[in-house]
Amino acid sequence: MEKIEHIGIAVKDLEKSNQLFASLFGESHYKVEEVKREGVKTSFFKNGPNKIELLEATNPDSPIAKFIEKKGEGIHHIAFAVKDIKAEMKRLAAEGFQLLSDEPKPGADNKLVCFLHPKTTNGVLIELCQERED
Ligand code: ZN
Repeated sequence: MEKIEHIGIAVKDLEKSNQLFASLFGESHYKVEEVKREGVKTSFFKNGPNKIELLEATNPDSPIAKFIEKKGEGIHHIAFAVKDIKAEMKRLAAEGFQLLSDEPKPGADNKLVCFLHPKTTNGVLIELCQERED
């Protein structure tokens, strides 16, 4: 893994949270993107070299809706940039980590992503992401 790519924060109201984080960082988000298949609407902020992703559920079955129901708003996942997501998935599966998908999936911000089950990572949902080349 290369570095932390972004930190994902689950929010109830993306519009309100966009304002809140804009005040916090002194800079507005630079993109909003809906990932229909995952039932989420996301927005991205830059803070120096770091990125923060806010996630709002777009339907009650969304993983974000379930997360907020259980734990409330807050840090949802930490995403790590990888060069070769398939190779990294294979390596981590062999190390005993549970992957949430067998194949990388298209994620927000032009990425291929795969998540690791938090029960195998000390309760932290980890996202692997590789920049897409299309
Ligand atoms: Zn993410």
